[in-house]
Formats: sequence, structure tokens, C-alpha cells
Amino acid sequence: LNGIERISAEPLAQTVSVGDRVAVKVPIGEYGNLNYLRPLLVRKVVDIVKEMGGKPFVTDTTTLYPNRRFTASEYLKTAALHGYTEKTIGAPIRIADGEKGYDGAIIPLTKIVDGCSIKEVEVARAFFEVDKLVVLSHVKGHEFAGFGGAIKNLAMGCVTKIGKAAQHAANRPIFNDEKCNSCNQCVEGCRFGAMTMLGDKPAIDQDECKSCLNCFFNCPQKAYSLPKNAKEVLQINLAHAASAVISRFNGKVVYLNFLQDVVDYCDCVERGGDRLVNDVGILSSIDPVAIDKASLDLIDKAPSFKKLEGPDRFGHIHGTSSYIQLNTAEKLGIGKLGYELVTI
Ligand code: SF4
Ligand code: SF4
Repeated sequence: LNGIERISAEPLAQTVSVGDRVAVKVPIGEYGNLNYLRPLLVRKVVDIVKEMGGKPFVTDTTTLYPNRRFTASEYLKTAALHGYTEKTIGAPIRIADGEKGYDGAIIPLTKIVDGCSIKEVEVARAFFEVDKLVVLSHVKGHEFAGFGGAIKNLAMGCVTKIGKAAQHAANRPIFNDEKCNSCNQCVEGCRFGAMTMLGDKPAIDQDECKSCLNCFFNCPQKAYSLPKNAKEVLQINLAHAASAVISRFNGKVVYLNFLQDVVDYCDCVERGGDRLVNDVGILSSIDPVAIDKASLDLIDKAPSFKKLEGPDRFGHIHGTSSYIQLNTAEKLGIGKLGYELVTI
């Protein structure tokens, strides 16, 4: 905890002024996942922000996929089970995109590169009602993005369901009727009402589908697949969405990356997978690209429990290059891949 104080005091002091309303963005993790950030770590950051005269609240957004964070009220129950309450955290906990996950406002993209498939981003309402943003990210692998760090936390974590669906549109599942045994599970499980049974096979209404991937992940026959370039396009979209969120704060955002409980999969899934390396430490920066690149490099250099060498161990695990999101983010001008690592 003293380490958090030492490494975050300077960037926070450069950013937070007396009286600022400060959103502390934290992914609180899906029910059943045990790798999410411990509340005590978040409490420490909240306390520092308060000592600096800021008025913090802790926040995240509802998920696109239907589980126990799909609505704000479901999310707050899961947060409490994970030890996140106003009492433990020392600040209110607010779900940034409202009860159903549709409360936000559009930020158009001013620069588009690398074949990005979105033109605008619907950012969650709460981020328009604060002066400063502090982004706390648990660094771990991600099935589609290679890894999740600061950029993914900004891009997917600070937007509404519409903002998430737009970024995921390139991942829309493709149905293979030869594998389907007509069990009806996918139709019943689609929380967006985008599926019906036509005869004995499911059909997706493309206008209603939000690319939440519930049908893809849960079909017992594995009858859904994803487009070939889905992972690449998603990462490119992530970088663009991150740029939109940052633009709301004129680039003045503080990032802390926690390289602990470094596992294969995101905190969004119940089973996070195997541990890749021992805990590495905590990084802080005001550059989301540099902090993510330094995180990947440190994880690549750490002794691993798996027979996987760097560069990009996460990319090897998930069959993509984790650098796509970083390269696109640098082209968009939101940060630099180069960094100087100062060990404290
Ligand atoms: S869940 Fe899979 S097997 Fe069942 S109806 Fe849907 S596609 Fe077919
Ligand atoms: S059709 Fe599948 S991907 Fe689309 S919203 Fe329904 S469950 Fe989600």
C-alpha cells in the first residue's frame, strides 16, 4: 500500500486539483472471478485523491454480455460480494452508464486509422460529470484483445452498451446450422431479443444483435464461429474508443496498472485461467500506451510458469498480436510506445 502512495503521488498531484470531481475507474470483476483488484488497493488510491482535495467516486460500466453485472443494480450486488461498498472503499460506487447501460453521450472520432470500423463512441454519462479520471487496470490476458490493460479499460470499460456493441460488431457470430441440434439455448439466452427459432434452427436479427457473444460462448455444439479478422479489428477499435474517452479529459488522465494475479483471461470470465508469472508490481503513468507496453515487457521478462517466451506471451496464448492495439493507439497520438522505467 505504501508502494501505491509512492508511485502514484506524483502523477496524481500533477493532475488532481482541490475541489475536482474524480472518477476512479475500476473493473470490479465478474461474479466467480477471483483475480479482480482487491478493494484495499482501490481504497488506498481513493484516500490519496481525497488527501489531495479531490472528490472521488469509484465507477465501472455494465457488461454487454448477460451475467451478474448486466444492469447497474446487478452490478452493485456483485461489487458488494467482491468487497466493494461505499464503506470499504471510502467513496460512493456508481455505475457510469445507468441502470440498463444505455446512459451516455456520443463523442465523434476526429482521427481514424488502420481500418477502424467505428466512427463515434458512446461514452458513459458519469465521465461527462467529472473533472478528472484515474484508471486502475488489472493486467491480464484477453481472448480477443491479447491482453487487457489501460487501453482496454478505457475503451470497453468507460462506454455504454451501445459503445461496446459498436466495437464488438466485427465479432458478430457466424452460425453453422450443420452443428446445431436445435436445443434453443441460444434463443433463450439472448438478452437483446435478437434471436428467434425459424423452423428448428435459430436465426439472428442483424439489426438487433449487439455482438454480446453469449450465443458464441454458450452453444453446447459450438455452432457459432467468429469472422477471421475479428481480433485485429476489435483491437483497432479499442484504441479508437480509448482515444475518444481520453479526449473528454484533454489527455489528462492518471493510469495505474496492477501486474498481479497475471492470468490468461479477463476478469470478465468466471475462470481466469492459469497464472502466467508471479506478481510483478504496480506501474503508474500519464501515458496509456507507454504503461501498457511497459506492462507487457515486464510480464514477458518475468520467469514464467508456462513454457512460453516473449515477446508477447499473451498474444501467443490467444492467437493474436497484443501490439495491434498499442500500435494503433500510438498512431492516434494518445501515447508513445517508448518509455523510461523508473523503479521505486
Ligand atoms: S445453442 Fe447451439 S445447438 Fe442450441 S439451438 Fe443454439 S446454435 Fe443450436
Ligand atoms: S444474437 Fe448472439 S451475439 Fe447477438 S445479441 Fe443475441 S446472444 Fe448476443
